[in-house]
Amino acid sequence: MAVSLDIADLRARRPAEPVNLEATQGDGLGCHAGKDAMRAAAEAAGMSETLDQLKRDYPAGPHDQPQSMCPAFGSLRVGLRMRRTATILSGSACCVYGLTFTSHFYGARRSVGYVPFNSETLVTGKLFEDIRDAVHASAKPEDYDAVVVINLCVPTASGVPLRLLPKEIDGVRIIGIDVPGFGVPTHAEAKDVLAGAMLKFARGEAENGPVQAPRGGRSERPSVALLGEMFPADPVVIGGLLEPLGLSAGPVVPTREWRELYGALDAAAVAAIHPFYTASIREFEAAGRPVVGSAPVGHDGTADWLAAIGHACDVAPATIAAAQNRLLPAIRGALSGQPIKGRITLSGYEGSELLVARLLVESGAEVPYVGTACPRTPWSEPDRAWLEERGVTIRYRASLEDDLAAFHEFRPDLAIGTTPVVQHAKERGTPALYFTNLISARPLMGAAGAGSLARVINAALANKPRFDAMRDFFEGVGTGHAAGIWQEIPTIKAAPKAAAPLKPIGEMA
Ligand code: SF4
Repeated sequence: MAVSLDIADLRARRPAEPVNLEATQGDGLGCHAGKDAMRAAAEAAGMSETLDQLKRDYPAGPHDQPQSMCPAFGSLRVGLRMRRTATILSGSACCVYGLTFTSHFYGARRSVGYVPFNSETLVTGKLFEDIRDAVHASAKPEDYDAVVVINLCVPTASGVPLRLLPKEIDGVRIIGIDVPGFGVPTHAEAKDVLAGAMLKFARGEAENGPVQAPRGGRSERPSVALLGEMFPADPVVIGGLLEPLGLSAGPVVPTREWRELYGALDAAAVAAIHPFYTASIREFEAAGRPVVGSAPVGHDGTADWLAAIGHACDVAPATIAAAQNRLLPAIRGALSGQPIKGRITLSGYEGSELLVARLLVESGAEVPYVGTACPRTPWSEPDRAWLEERGVTIRYRASLEDDLAAFHEFRPDLAIGTTPVVQHAKERGTPALYFTNLISARPLMGAAGAGSLARVINAALANKPRFDAMRDFFEGVGTGHAAGIWQEIPTIKAAPKAAAPLKPIGEMA
């Protein structure tokens, strides 16, 4: 909304908290302003501490920030999936439109709260008051355990101080987080921003007195909390793998309701199935919980993971060996029963790319390249080492250009990747699968994972003749002169005659 502003007047009316007036000038700030401009604005607004913490948690190097959807979607999705949790966005209307659209596309079935602003309410501090009013109106204990407020780019760059919101209203927790696109590189890591903030809050509650027990009561066996959103069957499969160790599967973080946070913090150990949950891991470590990287994927991955979890939970070596002997033959059988033959390049932004690559390699596939939008962290080191020993090139913070270059260099039989990679491969007649919808939304763990992945990969590989037929049939359609609506082939006009050279004045008639 365009508002005519008198900056001198606004400076006089600005609140005690720093607010960045420049964020409201000209075209304002947004994705289009570039992350350097946004970052500079946020620092000027006193947000350096928040930005420094984000930079430490989610390092951008060695490659630049990957191209992906608005990162805030990760936090929004985590909030929307939790029972008795209200989620409110504070940001530009266009950002909120895109985020709510995407949420409902993915079946949120829940309202997204929005506090709109204009230049004046942003600069005078009225936006903060509007957010506080919205929080008070939403914090009804009969409806909610928590209200989450997410500052998008412009309010973060302008320094809207969510930290000044009340921590609790009538027993409803208020969680304010800054999730700017110029500070949080991927939507995967934005899930961690909210999960980490909630764990921190819940840890403080647990340290100060008794807290709610899990809905189904406490397990008799020590539990292992699972970090990372995964296919619903995977925690069940992991529970079956933990049982011979005398352990049980604990809550999955991000959790589906507030009380599960206490159960997760109470676990004997934490399995960082997805390796990018840096802020959440900080909270688990502060609670004294050991964190184990990698995951029970394939034969080798499961063998190593059982040993690492058993060690972290003080399980006797003989018990660990017995569990391995009992569980591994079935996984080896599933892998050899459904082999995968072919060269596959793989890339994605979910954080489970290295795990999927391990499973493919163990199934017999040749995997020359894995690209992930996520950073390198200690919790995926076992996977990196295992893959690199087998000649796989891993690119962290991979860009679309990295993924496409790998596609051209390795000429795979199947490309698994993000939407533009899949489109690029299919245009060239190469079968391709979208990582997020078709690979990360399947079971990966234990024997169930080995069989399930092979089925979808082999079906895609078998599609090569269909892609060849389609490419031959559509050859030339939608490209070159056929890219428009023209009925006839445009005639290329003859180049205009070159002008006659100018004669020197002395030679003129
Ligand atoms: S909130 Fe998301 S869409 Fe909006 S400016 Fe930031 S990165 Fe872009």
